[in-house]
Amino acid sequence: MGCALKANMLQEWRKHFILEEGMLEVDCTSLTPEPVLKASGHVERFADWMVKDLKTGDCFRADHLIKNSIEKLLADKKTTADLKNELQDVLARLEGFDDKDMQAVISKYKFKSPITGNDLSEPVAFNLMFPTQIGPTGDFKAYLRPETAQGIFVNFKRLLEFNQSKLPFAAAQIGQGFRNEISPRQGLIRVREFTMCEIEHFVDPTDKSHPKFKKVADHVLTLFSACNQMDGNPAKEWKIGDAVTQGVVNNETLGYYMARCHQYLLKVGVDPRRLRFRQHLANEMAHYAQDCWDAEILTSYGWIECVGNADRACYDLRQHYKATNVKLVAEKVLPAAKNIDVVEAAPVMNILGKEFRQSAKKIQTVLSQLTPEQLAEVELELATNKLYNLKIDSETYPLTDKMLAVKKYSKTVYVEEIEPSVIEPSYGIGRVMYAVLEHAFRQREGDEQRCFLVLPPLVAPIKCSVLPISNNVVFEPIIELVREELARYDLSHKVDDSGNAIGRRYARTDEIGIPFGITIDFESEQKPHTVTLRHAESMQQIRLEISEVGRLLSDLSTGRQQWSDAQAKYPKFEANSDE
Ligand code: AMP
Repeated sequence: MGCALKANMLQEWRKHFILEEGMLEVDCTSLTPEPVLKASGHVERFADWMVKDLKTGDCFRADHLIKNSIEKLLADKKTTADLKNELQDVLARLEGFDDKDMQAVISKYKFKSPITGNDLSEPVAFNLMFPTQIGPTGDFKAYLRPETAQGIFVNFKRLLEFNQSKLPFAAAQIGQGFRNEISPRQGLIRVREFTMCEIEHFVDPTDKSHPKFKKVADHVLTLFSACNQMDGNPAKEWKIGDAVTQGVVNNETLGYYMARCHQYLLKVGVDPRRLRFRQHLANEMAHYAQDCWDAEILTSYGWIECVGNADRACYDLRQHYKATNVKLVAEKVLPAAKNIDVVEAAPVMNILGKEFRQSAKKIQTVLSQLTPEQLAEVELELATNKLYNLKIDSETYPLTDKMLAVKKYSKTVYVEEIEPSVIEPSYGIGRVMYAVLEHAFRQREGDEQRCFLVLPPLVAPIKCSVLPISNNVVFEPIIELVREELARYDLSHKVDDSGNAIGRRYARTDEIGIPFGITIDFESEQKPHTVTLRHAESMQQIRLEISEVGRLLSDLSTGRQQWSDAQAKYPKFEANSDE
């Protein structure tokens, strides 16, 4: 059942985004060579702060330990109102804390190991990637990808070509991400291997409008802006159009994806009252990011980030360009040809090669990336000292005026190079699925023992149960007719012809979230054969011909029709009170 639910959620994601938005799709490897993740900054910085129990060595994620310790204090009647206010303030700012801020909080409130009560170490950075090697020699370092996004960035050139070299365009990827979480203690919410659905939408940084924004402008979302978080104010409902116009959300493309994200989450069964978009605080956001809004869903674990929607500016493509010297840019045709002045480093490669051997290529790369200001300095040094000392990491390369010159010329251009910005929605499907299951859980009024799941028919693993009123053999041919009808419309179904009372069988199908039930009774034997169709959530039934069941259920399962439409069309069936 879990497999089918997940598969249906992924299928809907593919439809909602890749198909409807005309995105490209890629399927890259999980094993990622180290240079890719060095370029992206993951090797250096993809880390969480960890504290250790000084006696037992137990490890805890520092921010989680602080949050849990604060929540304990807040629930404690002995905590004074002043202290509670102070702690609430720490909680509101926690997402943006660095190691020093966290250490200060741990020392100030004397937080200890939650297991033993022992003292804790200072926070240390723990890289979350799983390292490995590719090939037999052990020389080629690699990691399991911590996100799927990098596969899209390194394929940018081919994707751009595939899109006739035009911006904007989006590419998506569905696949596993791997993170060596410090303490994965929350079931499906925090695991070390999880399915991600990611989109990289490449756009001209000077024009982040979205052609379909008008379609969603009136869509209302609950936004928890950074300002409201800092000021202790609650989240507020906004039309996404107003939020973009008033600068609460940075741009149309980001706003568009937030609205589409909201629509998707509602479609698959997230309760809109338990869904909000929380903006990252300034110090929580990566320095290069323009704006970032997490879709957070309220579960029994509290508000959980399930989707990140970020405007990452030009950072990712630029990082890969810096590492490989392969330009990852798009071209924009200028309205009119333009003369531009070019200043560039002109290394003499055969001399550089003889002098610096394998390093010559690296020198050429660094020289080609110098800014106009740096080139002016090179020119001055070469003119005065006939030498320029180029520093790369800890090495210095003395470049003489025989090896290097600074060239200046003008040229006519017809196109302009643009470094695309990227808007990245990133979904963790396991978290969404967990939230959907919690939100779908219900108990029958007056009979709390009878639990059931109200899953949207769109994602329900089994669309329909088939229940003969008893296990009498006369029903067998009719069951077969119903099965054939359902198979014709690719409807997943489950026959329960055990001899159990029908009410008990209904309860069993309700428990596993089967939204509809077909009941075959003695009236079904008469021609034309009819059955009843039961809506699990309301327990109401209608009667219709078998030959109509497939199309109706198919419509109900894809959202083309609602139960109320079916009720309006077919006669109500009063059950012999099985419930
Ligand atoms: P991030 O790149 O950290 O913004 O993560 C993107 C999405 O992946 C999040 O919004 C979560 O839905 C999901 N995610 C991140 N870490 C985990 C994890 N350890 N277990 C399950 N899902 C995760």
